[in-house]
Amino acid sequence: MKKKFILLGAPGSGKGTLAEKATTKYGILQISTGDIFRQNVADGTALGKKAKEYMDRGELVPDELVLDLVADRLSQPDAQKGYMLDGFPRTIVQAEALDKALEKSGSRIDAVVYLNVPRDELIHRISGRRLCSVCGKSYNVDNPEFSPAVPGICDVDGGNLIQRPDDTEEVAKGRIDVYNEQTHPLVEYYQEAGMLTELNGMDGAVRNFELFSALIEA
Ligand code: AMP
Repeated sequence: MKKKFILLGAPGSGKGTLAEKATTKYGILQISTGDIFRQNVADGTALGKKAKEYMDRGELVPDELVLDLVADRLSQPDAQKGYMLDGFPRTIVQAEALDKALEKSGSRIDAVVYLNVPRDELIHRISGRRLCSVCGKSYNVDNPEFSPAVPGICDVDGGNLIQRPDDTEEVAKGRIDVYNEQTHPLVEYYQEAGMLTELNGMDGAVRNFELFSALIEA
């Protein structure tokens, strides 16, 4: 199973949750550009220092900083067995660059999965999101389905749960505006290419994972 997917949707739409389930069940590699940037920030790399100022403001990191990083990640051995791109592409420029890179290597994306969620729900989900400071697993303190067994503690490794600095309500609103302006046009881009599968993000993680599984197993 060497399939390649793009998970498309606003912040808080459930891309990461879907990816986590697919990694657990099918072993598909999740490539999250946000996670890669956060790791670079934590490690204090030159890239992390540049990216942090944009991330803290809820803006997109400039395309030129993203494209080399993704090209490098996709060239690594583990990515030759397929992957899910989570949080990339986020602009038309990034999508076109990806098309070109894949064309060069004679491969293609199998499907683009678009999670559609209303703005109010996105803000609510993002504000309640907490991440394990050790393994990065995502929880939601406002939703019993995604709450940890013990408040503030990761079910998997006992790590402390923290809020991402850009998950505050104020920054989240700006990130959703950025999504609508710069990333949402990709829905039409991939629809026209006949690659888009739209999922109703309000249908719940279980139902949407069933639908995603059907694409993975097709
Ligand atoms: P995420 O975890 O996907 O919400 O990403 C967190 C932040 O990382 C975003 O708000 C951006 O600042 C940055 N980022 C992640 N992926 C990209 C991308 N493909 N293009 C530009 N900026 C990105």
